[in-house]
Order: sequence, then structure tokens, then C-alpha cells
Amino acid sequence: MNKKTIDDIDVSGKRVLVRVDFNVPQDEQGQITDDTRIVAALPTVKTLAERGARVILVSHLGRPKGVTPQYTLAPVAQRLSELLGRPVRLLPDCVGPEIQQQVQAMENGEVVLLENVRFHSEEEKNDEEFARQLAALAEIYVNDAFGTAHRAHASTEGVARILPGVAGYLMQKELEYLGSVLESPKRPLIAILGGAKVKDKIRVIENLLTRVDTLIIGGGMAYTFFKARGYEIGQSLLDETSLEFCREVMAKAGDRLLLPQDVVVSSADPFQVGPDACETRVVPVTEIPAEWQGVDIGPETRAKFAEVIRGAGTVVWNGPMGIFEFDRFAEGTRAVAQALADSGAITVIGGGDSAAAVQKLGFAEKMTHVSTGGGASLEFLEGRPLPGVVALQDK
Ligand code: ADP
Ligand code: MG
Repeated sequence: MNKKTIDDIDVSGKRVLVRVDFNVPQDEQGQITDDTRIVAALPTVKTLAERGARVILVSHLGRPKGVTPQYTLAPVAQRLSELLGRPVRLLPDCVGPEIQQQVQAMENGEVVLLENVRFHSEEEKNDEEFARQLAALAEIYVNDAFGTAHRAHASTEGVARILPGVAGYLMQKELEYLGSVLESPKRPLIAILGGAKVKDKIRVIENLLTRVDTLIIGGGMAYTFFKARGYEIGQSLLDETSLEFCREVMAKAGDRLLLPQDVVVSSADPFQVGPDACETRVVPVTEIPAEWQGVDIGPETRAKFAEVIRGAGTVVWNGPMGIFEFDRFAEGTRAVAQALADSGAITVIGGGDSAAAVQKLGFAEKMTHVSTGGGASLEFLEGRPLPGVVALQDK
């Protein structure tokens, strides 16, 4: 990683503006249902406080239109206080003279949280004046919000043009693990792609195809490849606009591409009728019945994928192998997660649903790295520079 981190600078006695990703899921009562993102930022927050910085945290939550009390960061400040074992004050706004005064009065080692930065529409517009107001609060900027690094907003990109900016530990970890996949993978490098649409993953496939030893494709996107081969795919997911792309990928990849050989098909759409009302069968991919739809990879495919994964040096995985939201159709995804867990390979998971699947199936701890940034991890794997990272100081 060629960006400076908090270990490269002296923060003692300095006001440090830290962009974190505290965009946590909440229930109707505003209770936080998953605090993974808060926990993931703790190493950076703790280290800065221990080193005597005055830590000013800034984050967005949800998609508010102007000041919306429902999207207050108050519950987050509460949970962060519990996790740190010390009070974290929530300031009533993120910019303005009153906030300016409050941060000027902070003590070394103190931690405060600014109110939802998206209460100001200037944030997402990356408004220069607004970025200047945020920057005026501090002397140093730290970006630890990998999950929003693909967006050029005032708090992720604009401030880093004004203040000297460095990466936090979470940002560093994300860039190192995802970066190692693209730059210096232990070989053989295997990419496993699945999920719903080929269209969403075209640039990921293109970029990874130039780097991998084997490309495994499963999940909903495999059916567009089957269609491109001329197979009957019944009611399975089809991405009509990507047929030509699939043909090109097959031609380019040759025998580096591994597609499923058998699939689980369902007599009806489980989202419509519920999973239990579906009749299921395992069929070879060349024999999908016209009225049925593919919902998971079959047992022979699971075994074949596992065998290939066993020999890997590095595995990067994005996209579930089936409709994992239903336990009945999560077996293919489970088998791949198990194979990754059992392999000695470096295993990196990207993508929002993929991270959720690995978490839900209980394999998160067994992976080398599960990215906290859904969209950001995909853009990274596309090989695109992330604006929030570009803006940080080089080593
Ligand atoms: P990620 O968020 O990790 O990038 P995607 O959003 O591309 O992953 O894909 C996740 C979705 O793909 C899940 O909602 C899952 O139900 C769906 N999916 C996987 N396999 C199939 C299939 N055979 N048919 C329909 N949907 C599928
Ligand atoms: Mg998704």
C-alpha cells in the first residue's frame, strides 16, 4: 500500500477529523441490529485517542433529505461509548461556529462524533465550501471509511484536498488484502464470481480475467453463459444484453473458465410462492426443463469447485452460488465457503451480499478478509481508482 497511514504521522495534541463508515442497519425502533462497522473502526479510534489526538468522527447514516431526526447518529454515539468504555459526545451538527467552538475546547484523547454529515446536501455534491468548513475543524484528516471510498463526497474526498490526509487501519487493511489479489497474489489465483446479474459484474470479470489462473462462475449469472452456449435455461435468470459479452469471455478464457456442470432447479419462483412450495430437482446444465428455474449449483459442481479451491494460493470471491437467502438454496454457497475455510489459501470476500452470506453461514472468522465495503470492493476489483483513496497522501 503506497498511502500514508496514521502510523506515519504525529497526532499528539492535534485535532484529527476521522471519516468513518457508521452507516449501520437499524430496526424500526432505531436499535442497531449489526454493529460490525462500528467495531471495525475501533482500532483506529482507540489508537488515535491513546496517542493523544483530539478525535472528531464524521459519518453518514442512511439517505436523509436534509435534517431528518430518524437518521440521527445518537444510537451510534451510544454504542460507540459502550464499545470504547468511555463517553463519546454527539455534537448537534457537523459544521458551523458552534461546532467549531466545541472542537476547539476538546482535550487530548477525547472522542466526539459529529451529527450525520448527509443532513447537508452539500456533502454528496462534494461542495468545496462545505468541505472547507469540515476541514476547518481539524489539522489532520484520516479516512477509515473504505465503504464510501468509491464516492467523491465532501467528507471522503473534498476535505482531503485541503487537509493532509492519511489512511486509518481499516482502510489500510482493505487496501492491502484487496490490493494483494490484484497486484501480488500467491498463485494459483482463483476468482469465484456469482450473484445475480452479469451486467453488474462485467468490469470485474474483465479485470480479473487478465489476472486469474482460474475463473469460476456460479450463481444466477451462470445461466446467461449457458444461454450463450445455446442451452435451454427455462425460467432461470437471463441477462439478455450480456450474451455477447459472455461469448467473448468464454472465447478469451478457454479452459481457465469453470462453469457449473449440474444445478438445482425449482418448479416455481421461490420469491413468489415461498421456498417450501417449490419442487426441486438436480439436473445437468444441458437439461434444464423449460418451466423450471436454476436456484443453486448442484452436488457434482460443489465437489468440482471444492477440488479446484483446494489447490489455490489465493481465492477472491464475489457473489453467492444460489439464492442463499433461503436455507434450501444456500447449500452451494455453503459448500464453497466450506472449501475456502478448509483451504490453506488467502481468501478474500468482496460484495455486500457475499459478505452477508459468509456471515450468515458462520464462515466469516475462517476467511482471511471479508471486505466491509460492498460497492467499494467491487469497484476496487474492477481496477478503478477510488476517489477517497486517491486523495490521501502517498508514502
Ligand atoms: P454481491 O452483493 O455480493 O455483489 P450480488 O448482489 O451480485 O452479490 O448477488 C446476490 C444475489 O444473487 C442474491 O440476492 C441471490 O439471491 C442472487 N442469486 C444467486 N444465485 C441466483 C440464482 N440462481 N437465481 C436468482 N438469483 C440468484
Ligand atoms: Mg448485492
